[in-house]
Amino acid sequence: MKIECPNDTCKRGLSGLKSDIGKQVACPACGHAFIWTDRFYRGDSFVIYDLETTGLYPDEDEFIQLAAVRFEGGRLIPEDGFSSFARPRRRISSFIESYTGIGNHHVAGAPRPEEVLCRFSQWAGDSTLIAHNGLRFDSKFLAATCRRHGLATRPVDCIDSIHISKMLFGKARGTGHSLDHVKARLGLRDTTLRRHDARGDVDLLGRALLAMSDRLGLDTHLNAVPRHPSLLPQV
Ligand SMILES: [Zn+2]
Repeated sequence: MKIECPNDTCKRGLSGLKSDIGKQVACPACGHAFIWTDRFYRGDSFVIYDLETTGLYPDEDEFIQLAAVRFEGGRLIPEDGFSSFARPRRRISSFIESYTGIGNHHVAGAPRPEEVLCRFSQWAGDSTLIAHNGLRFDSKFLAATCRRHGLATRPVDCIDSIHISKMLFGKARGTGHSLDHVKARLGLRDTTLRRHDARGDVDLLGRALLAMSDRLGLDTHLNAVPRHPSLLPQV
């Protein structure tokens, strides 16, 4: 594969292997260090988000909380956050209530999930989404919410931060990549917010992301990190 050196003052044509994507390299012409990739992204505006749900199944369950924080130019913007409860059609089980700390009384006056999602879509704008295990979980809930309520959708790129954890800690069998594993390996302190409350998980994921991208030497566009397609309501 052939790419151009990402250093704007160099732009030397470089060739390398597809299997080296994600590895640290240096341009032989200018010495610029970067992570080998087949595609460079322009935007550096991201939205880190997390959902709590009534259960594991996007076709039967609904999300009951959505929290997010903006991550722009390589910096977390804690004052630019999004947080809302959502009122599901089915009751929140006592299991979910003890896991998330969110009970039926918390969501009693909240808007429906599809309304929360429309507001979130507006707030997120064109940013690329980031969620931990988003490929298998959160993205599916977003798409299912749009589908169930017949909302017109728009495509949005999403990064699953589990990919970043795999780039850093490797894919060897037995290497867990849950947020708890990542937190322990990075030696991050506990969040002051409750874990498994979306606000607490977003706070922790934000700090984990900063630490991981720092250790990997990722640029502010998070190049070399794969994106998967996700859906948000058109607003
Ligand atoms: Zn160069």
